[in-house]
Amino acid sequence: MIVKDVQARTIKNSRREDTIEVSVFSDKGKFVASAPSGKSKGRHEARDFSVNGINFSVNFVTAIGRKIASELLQLDDFSDLEKIEKLVRKIDKTPTWSLIGANALYALEAALLKAIAASYEQELWQFFCEKPKFTPMPLGNAIGGGKHVKQETKTDFQEFLFLPQTKNFFDAYFMNMQAYKIAKQLLIGKDKRYDGNLTDENSFAATLSNLEVLQIMKETRQIAHDKFNVEIQIGIDAAASSFFRNDKYHYNNPEKKLSKDEQIMFMINLINEYGLNYVEDPFHEDDFASFSVLMKKISSHNMKCLLAADDLTATQFKRVEMAVKEKCINALIVKPNQNGSLLETKRIVDFAKDNNITPIISHRSGETMDNTIAHLAVGWQCPIIKAGILGKERFAKLNEILRIERKAAGK
Ligand code: PEP
Ligand code: MG
Repeated sequence: MIVKDVQARTIKNSRREDTIEVSVFSDKGKFVASAPSGKSKGRHEARDFSVNGINFSVNFVTAIGRKIASELLQLDDFSDLEKIEKLVRKIDKTPTWSLIGANALYALEAALLKAIAASYEQELWQFFCEKPKFTPMPLGNAIGGGKHVKQETKTDFQEFLFLPQTKNFFDAYFMNMQAYKIAKQLLIGKDKRYDGNLTDENSFAATLSNLEVLQIMKETRQIAHDKFNVEIQIGIDAAASSFFRNDKYHYNNPEKKLSKDEQIMFMINLINEYGLNYVEDPFHEDDFASFSVLMKKISSHNMKCLLAADDLTATQFKRVEMAVKEKCINALIVKPNQNGSLLETKRIVDFAKDNNITPIISHRSGETMDNTIAHLAVGWQCPIIKAGILGKERFAKLNEILRIERKAAGK
């Protein structure tokens, strides 16, 4: 495939922040990708935009695009993204793309990949995997707090999530909607101060404590099971770095301080008491040791719980390697824009699978209408996609998987 033109511009994400959109033109048409942004960003993730600002990133992509087109660069395989990264590397010699910005590189590579796939009359997911064995299951948050909420009284944990156990995505998507509705009714009944406020990802911004919300999640699971005869697993993204300082976890609602060891015990109790099947970032982003202790407990007691790293690993290969070496996790959040390079992001997904770690492709709290992660989740055969439950930016991904599932089944 030969690129005719590349255009880059700033657009707004769901939080009304500036982000980048890239259009690639080939003889098959126009291919567009845009990048999301995080709020509870990991300290170790790559910068989203250039140290010189977003306009610098946009101009950088435009200049690289001009070069790709004028040099008639041949792009036919996934590995041809190396040619792009080499061009960028001539100018940006920083280890994590601080000059171009990870968001800019990601959007450029995603748009190029869509164009390459189209040159074979394929969609992006097909380009990676023509006959998927499964579609990813949706992990979605119904209630949230932490950095994703502006109000004063909120949960310390960032997300309370559902993960339906169904045979296909179609049913799981339906179940998440049902669970969302049930949780809303329970919340309205119990949270007298709840004023309808939503988090950045359109989950309910409860004013209750973590434990009160976990009780709602537990009851929702039971009600959904009784009504639909379907198991819905429940879990949390504690995003614990957001309330860790001076060696302690500082909880606000209700107020308490936990040492590292107390936090480990607290997490073990939560998993047991509420039957949590998913726990993300229960410890702060540099605490490999606590992850290791909890993982050991989960394995030795055969607890059916995914322990996922997000801020700990920040989609950086070296940190994922470390987490594997230290036996910290059995699940991994993968956010392509935390890295920038889709080559390295795919390498991380493959490495996780090789080490029996479940890769979970994830959205960000500030999203666009882009659906690339839906294609990557199917194409790279990741068992889970974390993309929220409600809102047009979340539907853009979830509806795309729905469509892909039907198409892959020949419907
Ligand atoms: C997360 O922590 O999993 C998340 C999606 O948040 P953000 O995009 O704000 O980093
Ligand atoms: Mg997270």
